[in-house]
Amino acid sequence: MVFYKPNIQFLSDHSVDPDKRRYLLASEASKHYIDIDRYGKYPYKELPASYDSAVKKFSEDTIMTNGIVPWWVQTVQARLTNAFKEKNPAKILKLSAEIGHYVADAHVPLHANSNHDGQLTGQKGIHAFWESRIPELLSEKEFDFMIGKAAYISNISSFIWKRVLESGAEADTVLQNEAFLTSKFATDRKYAFEERNGKLVRQYSSGFTVGYNNTLKGMVERRMRTAITSTASLWYTAWINAGQPNLKNMQPLAFSEEDLKEFEILEAAWKYNNIKGRLHE
Ligand SMILES: [Zn+2]
Repeated sequence: MVFYKPNIQFLSDHSVDPDKRRYLLASEASKHYIDIDRYGKYPYKELPASYDSAVKKFSEDTIMTNGIVPWWVQTVQARLTNAFKEKNPAKILKLSAEIGHYVADAHVPLHANSNHDGQLTGQKGIHAFWESRIPELLSEKEFDFMIGKAAYISNISSFIWKRVLESGAEADTVLQNEAFLTSKFATDRKYAFEERNGKLVRQYSSGFTVGYNNTLKGMVERRMRTAITSTASLWYTAWINAGQPNLKNMQPLAFSEEDLKEFEILEAAWKYNNIKGRLHE
């Protein structure tokens, strides 16, 4: 309450920095997903939980191509813990915004499946449909984001792997339900020209969006709620593991020249570049 709440605007603005970075660096993309189905069958016992063991078994190339989000979350978490130890408010906020992004991505079923945009099954567009169109249309009025208190996470590796396994397990439902509903909808009712950010664009119609969300029985809301709890709990855990530094005296913020430069570069890359590496993450 004393530290994060006054900086809620910064956290919100900068939670998308990792996606902007994808317009700058090809190496960024793999931090946002894991194609876990490439490692056999649920619960993927063949895939070691530790990064080093996984690389030893499958090669760094394969691990990178298939995505590293469960490991990357742990790396950012270690950095966040260090920022708390250093009592560096600018660093804490930057890393808090970033870990929120990566851990939330890990809660999205299509961030844990190789058919990540339905590209293998003629369902292109489903990625943004699930993670953008549904929340944009329904979250404000219909989703409940009161989630209660953050909890201490004693084993971060097993925590993030659990979330990723849940996501991977739900990917089939995400894809199958869309295909089923499509078979029931005339194309001219599936898509419609509707307003998005003040512009008229062709997108999944409201009717199709609401219908699809109903077939998912609250999945999008549930994953968003869990993502919020996970983010809050990781922040809280980093603070505990850093020895609970007093946050009251950590205002106001001062970002270094370097930070400000980085924000500028990210913003420009996102505005003027094409995306690098894999799309739709
Ligand atoms: Zn992302």
